[in-house]
Amino acid sequence: MHPDVQSLLAVQQDDLEIYALEARLSALGPRLAALENERARAAQELERARKAVESDEARHREATHKLETHRQLVERSQRQYESVTSPREANAAMTQLEQTKRMADDSERDATQILGRIGEMRHHVAQLESALADVEHRQAEARSVLDAERAEIEGQVAQARAKRDRTAQGVPRPMLAKYDKVRSRRRAETLFPLRGPSCSACDTAIPTQRRAVMAASGTIEMCEGCGALLYARE
Ligand SMILES: [Zn+2]
Repeated sequence: MHPDVQSLLAVQQDDLEIYALEARLSALGPRLAALENERARAAQELERARKAVESDEARHREATHKLETHRQLVERSQRQYESVTSPREANAAMTQLEQTKRMADDSERDATQILGRIGEMRHHVAQLESALADVEHRQAEARSVLDAERAEIEGQVAQARAKRDRTAQGVPRPMLAKYDKVRSRRRAETLFPLRGPSCSACDTAIPTQRRAVMAASGTIEMCEGCGALLYARE
């Protein structure tokens, strides 16, 4: 085998290692996203529960205000009833007083009901807060494992790239450029040996003339069948 081709094969080996490391790096992405999703779900549920409490607190303020108004009506009706001067007026005042008392009772029941519901909802909020804290606590370890893994792989990528640069210095520039052009498109194994008269990647037959050139001068040629680069093994 021509020494240039041998050097280029070494470069390809380095490139394949870099690709494998990069694949491991991108596999970390979905794992981090899964953590983010889990945390976001817990945070959203808590947010919804807090909003629900806020809106019921607003309703409780309204109900309390209504109750105040109704109690004032009861007091006014009471005074009116106490100041009647005839039985007919007394009847009307009594009816009025009973009516306002019913209204006040109704709004007191409403306010109490809402307050009870708020109590339950605040309890639910507290549970969701502690669930979110649990998720974050549990994730802290997973995240630090992921971070350490990322840092380690990034270090390996940097080393592999430096090694590749050194290896690439042994390859003639035009050959390296030809290889890099095809490799950057394929992002995988690019350089294949001839197997008999054919491309070993796709089995397309290569004309005798081209095979002879490859064998004699150690050049690399593109396979018209699959676009891989071919070299002569001997
Ligand atoms: Zn081929």
